[in-house]
Amino acid sequence: MQPSDGPEFFDEGTPCGVLTTEPLGRVLDYRAPEGGCWMGAFVQVPLGPRRVIGVIWGPADGRFDRTKLRQVIRVLDAAPMRAELREFLTRLADYTLTQLPMVLRLATRVPGLADGPVTRKLLFRGDGLPDRMTDARTRVMAALEEFGGAGLAPSELAHAAGVGTSVVRGLVTAGALAERAAPRDQPFPRLDPARPGPVLSDDQARAADALRKGQSGYGTWLLKGVTGSGKTEVYLEAVADCLRAGRQALVLLPEIALSAEFLTRVEHRFGAKPAEWHSGVTQSERRRLWRMVGQGGAQMVVGARSALFLPFQNLGLIVVDEEHDTSYKQEEGVFYNARDMAVLRGALNGAQVVLASATPSLESWANAEAGKYTRLDLTTRFGPNALPEMAAIDLRTEALPANRWISPSLQAAVTARLGLGEQALLFLNRRGYAPLTVCRACGHQIACTDCDARMVEHRFLERLVCHQCGATAPIPTKCPECGAEDRMAPVGPGVERLEEETRALWPDARVAVLSSDLFGSARALKAQIEEIAAGGADIIIGTQIVAKGHNFPHLTLVGVIDADLGLSGSDLRAAERVFQLTRQVAGRAGRADKPGRALIQTSQPDHPVIRAILSGDEEAFWQAEAKARRALSMPPYGRLAGIILSGPELEPVFALGNALARNDAALRRINAQVFGPAPAPIARIRGQHRVRLLVKAAKGAPLQAALRDWTRPHKLGTNMRLVIDIDPQSFY
Ligand code: ADP
Ligand code: ZN
Repeated sequence: MQPSDGPEFFDEGTPCGVLTTEPLGRVLDYRAPEGGCWMGAFVQVPLGPRRVIGVIWGPADGRFDRTKLRQVIRVLDAAPMRAELREFLTRLADYTLTQLPMVLRLATRVPGLADGPVTRKLLFRGDGLPDRMTDARTRVMAALEEFGGAGLAPSELAHAAGVGTSVVRGLVTAGALAERAAPRDQPFPRLDPARPGPVLSDDQARAADALRKGQSGYGTWLLKGVTGSGKTEVYLEAVADCLRAGRQALVLLPEIALSAEFLTRVEHRFGAKPAEWHSGVTQSERRRLWRMVGQGGAQMVVGARSALFLPFQNLGLIVVDEEHDTSYKQEEGVFYNARDMAVLRGALNGAQVVLASATPSLESWANAEAGKYTRLDLTTRFGPNALPEMAAIDLRTEALPANRWISPSLQAAVTARLGLGEQALLFLNRRGYAPLTVCRACGHQIACTDCDARMVEHRFLERLVCHQCGATAPIPTKCPECGAEDRMAPVGPGVERLEEETRALWPDARVAVLSSDLFGSARALKAQIEEIAAGGADIIIGTQIVAKGHNFPHLTLVGVIDADLGLSGSDLRAAERVFQLTRQVAGRAGRADKPGRALIQTSQPDHPVIRAILSGDEEAFWQAEAKARRALSMPPYGRLAGIILSGPELEPVFALGNALARNDAALRRINAQVFGPAPAPIARIRGQHRVRLLVKAAKGAPLQAALRDWTRPHKLGTNMRLVIDIDPQSFY
């Protein structure tokens, strides 16, 4: 099913191949509709009794009787999908071992795709002149100019000019504004790449120049520099160059980092906001963006990972900011890593790819070492301020009473900062009040009934919550096991419990908790972050969401409550994650003109990872990590695939796992090894039993083909699922 170089246009009635989003696994033959259609056209076709959406994917298979073929119903009102996007989807499906229709769904996830061309009444400049100009009227005409000839709805125009709609109506009556029917979806305001940016530091200028020289074709860059070193400013220069060349730019950010702060910054630089693509965007704005990127009516898109599937007309630059962020990996439906797929899409589009991070993933670091990516380093923070000074607080020598997590040293440091009117951040990567609820009489722990997981107490919600499936239960007063009354006790800290301790220690301080579950929407969370950044809190308590790309100018002290939390995990990337997260969080301290400090509470101050965090010797850390992984042929020096089997009954799931492990000839042919089956670390989710296998192969081995041959002969029982996760990031 390679996108073909066959005919580019199908005359009415000629057979053509259509890929639909239905799970049929192959391209279906249809006759081209009235008026014919282009290769790549989005179409509606009959399928059984239904009408479904598809894309003209290639020539017809031809094995079917032409006279019996059904006809494409109509071509949809959207620019045809370009060959490079079809190629991208095909390669992504091959790489991730996913059915192509599933992948096509990612590229057609837009509301109203099947709507006909819809118009609405918009206002344009008219021929007449008003008898008199008022201030308000002048503002309206100026606002219209700003949109460069694109029409605006009356309410939009009134809003843009900051006047009431009656002023706008008056101008229509006077003939200064004319109403015309125009397509519903209008182009986005033009960004002006000719506007001057800031004067760049030497480091920044060097990086920007290198990117500019590469503009003519594909290339991937690793832009590395601590938080505040000016990476954003550098890649905005690359955006400017890209826009000047008349091409489109895409900036990917982890969902939560998509802040108003960033949009305002782009507006500052280019005179208009970029188009936004993420879960918080309204349906009609999504539809507008999707159509406009296809027609060239959007120059720059800022989006979450799914923006990678937008139908760009001429994509010239992809930036993946915070490239190490684990949220780039999608772990449901199609298992893909947006960071890696950005590199693929860049290569197919002849576009530049910039991976930016303060703490790059070992994968990207190794690719730069190997010369596949070009590394650009920003070595100092922009401006005069230095990196925060880092120190460990040895929990073995601090007298911490039971159920207290803030050591006397940390307490003194926070008090000192508050005295100076500055902000402090206490970082604990645990949501909720307490991770365990235990009966003091019998030791029973409350677990989820559907999952192999303990219930986490959330005092804010007044419920126990399962972090795997989201199930909730009342907080019990009586032990469900032994029946003892009032003996249930929370064990261990979560951010809500830390808040309690904080309020007790500093009763006069304004305390804000940032945890993803405390907010109804991403929008509400972002609003809270902005309020805090503006000085709306003295002490911030946060989970890992505070690590991501927010600027807190008044923050000068970061206290890491438990640096040991992630170190004990058996996860391949445990050390890397702790290193990245702790360095990122520490980097939040001391931006503007005040020096920052980071205090790390740990019981293992001599642990190599903690030492690397404190010394800041990143190269040494990566060298050591790389050496350890290379010795074991682990990624990025070897390849992994996770196989997750699940089903309502454990026995058949395990039997399938055993059958796979026994019949591994296809894997042995490429010298790959299979480990397992073993119960997954979370052996049950939502009542489904889970069993894992792990396949390990050499770096260059043709892993996908072998996995396909290996799994294909096995039939799945009722309600059983087999999921293959290529390059797994998590192993739960
Ligand atoms: P990073 O993306 O590496 O965290 P930023 O690009 O956000 O760094 O820069 C940090 C701060 O320094 C921002 O407030 C930014 O506006 C400012 N800054 C960066 N480069 C320059 C420059 N060349 N001139 C003036 N201000 C700059
Ligand atoms: Zn559960």
